[in-house]
Amino acid sequence: TYVVTDNCIACKYTDCVEVCPVDCFYEGENFLAIHPDECIDCGVCEPECPADAIRPDTEPGLESWVELNRKYAEIW
Ligand code: SF4
Repeated sequence: TYVVTDNCIACKYTDCVEVCPVDCFYEGENFLAIHPDECIDCGVCEPECPADAIRPDTEPGLESWVELNRKYAEIW
């Protein structure tokens, strides 16, 4: 899955949301979240993010961000 990280906070760009083929972005007031169970790992959103906030969860140290994305995707 891909995961939204701290650079997204208050970013306000939504280029990633527009390109996601499965609509798995959820939008809060100051942050976007990817639902980790809905993301199909296509990678299309990563280069679209002007803030470089979207990372693959294969990068080390992102476990807590994956859980945060899941939590907010389910709330929103
Ligand atoms: Fe959507 Fe693909 Fe990005 Fe996952 S990797 S959030 S499916 S655009």
